[in-house]
Amino acid sequence: MNLSNILNKAQMKRCNLSRDELIYLLALEDQADLARLHEAAYAVKTKRLGRQVSLRGLIEMGNICAKDCLYCGIRRSNKNTERYHLGAAEVIRMAEWAYRENYGSVVIQSGEIESDEHTEIIAKVLKKIAEFSNGEMGVTLSLGEQEKEVFAYWRQAGAHRYLLRIETSSPELYRRLHPADHSFKRRYECLQYLRELGYQVGSGVMSGLPGQSHGDLADDLIFFRDLDIDMIGMGPYIPHPDTPLGAGLAVTPELSSRQLAVGLKMVAAARLYLHNVNIAAATALQALADNGRELGLLAGANVIMPNVTDLAYRKNYQLYAGKPCLEENAAHCRGCLAARVAGVGESILWGERGDSPRFFERITAESPLPAALSHIDSTIEYRKA
Ligand code: SAH
Repeated sequence: MNLSNILNKAQMKRCNLSRDELIYLLALEDQADLARLHEAAYAVKTKRLGRQVSLRGLIEMGNICAKDCLYCGIRRSNKNTERYHLGAAEVIRMAEWAYRENYGSVVIQSGEIESDEHTEIIAKVLKKIAEFSNGEMGVTLSLGEQEKEVFAYWRQAGAHRYLLRIETSSPELYRRLHPADHSFKRRYECLQYLRELGYQVGSGVMSGLPGQSHGDLADDLIFFRDLDIDMIGMGPYIPHPDTPLGAGLAVTPELSSRQLAVGLKMVAAARLYLHNVNIAAATALQALADNGRELGLLAGANVIMPNVTDLAYRKNYQLYAGKPCLEENAAHCRGCLAARVAGVGESILWGERGDSPRFFERITAESPLPAALSHIDSTIEYRKA
């Protein structure tokens, strides 16, 4: 095996690498080799998607969470964070702002809540967004595991993308990172429901987790292929001091550069392996280096999620240490971002929803399929089974 052969092979077509070849790429350490890896991935990205970046305005809707993931700063048992949950009116206001500012899409994210009240708030927000944007604005939900009928209800109310990270595709590593009552199987089933319901399905993992091997990371990429994932949101693990996994682990410059490197390798390998999926340059990259997101773009990512949440709430939505942009308001973020993206020779697709090309490729091949997008039925009523 050598790097040139692997990179050439990867560039020829989708899913053209063996597990061992993926491991080879993920194990690279030499700076010159890493530069070649990133360049090859960037070449695939520009060929398939152009030198263009899609935006999602990120609305951090709340940090109340039923889960107790051992790595996450908003885990249920963390008593050091002030909990909040935005109502429909506030989320709608932030989404409207994003629409006026020409963000083609928003992501609504929160801790995991399964309740009728929450379900209805989201449906109300979705219908309102469809209304004020004439069904044009893209909406991704990132609201954790839900019952299938809740996913269906939100889909009918206007959501068309859902991001649910599997966190790691290794059931064993998953068990080590979560309390016993958190189920890998249920998370996996949720991804299948989302696919069945016609969502563009996003998933992702954390990289650089304690005890995670290059083989595990290669398996993560193979997992994305097997599920034929449309979008990937993944980032490096960053310790949070108020969590069992992160307690006592300082985010030193050495740790930051190691985690940044593994995060970028995963972006590049995912682009080389999966070609035309949407890949986000995760905020965790920016937490590790000021130019982390730009480096993500140059390693093959094509989506950025600028935060459009009111500043008052952002400090309480800290999944990991060192979250960026806690002081800059959304308008400032917009200007800063445009300059940064232009700085690496890319341009922003203002006003476009930026759907996953892979999604349309698949549904065309598989047609007939449910109408991918314009499927908004605002009369539908939710009934819990
Ligand atoms: N509750 C929702 C989404 C909110 S958390 C859900 O489960 O889908 C969003 C993501 O942040 C998680 O999926 C996880 O991958 C990531 N995350 C949590 N803690 C992290 C940490 N310490 N370092 C890096 N990423 C983290």
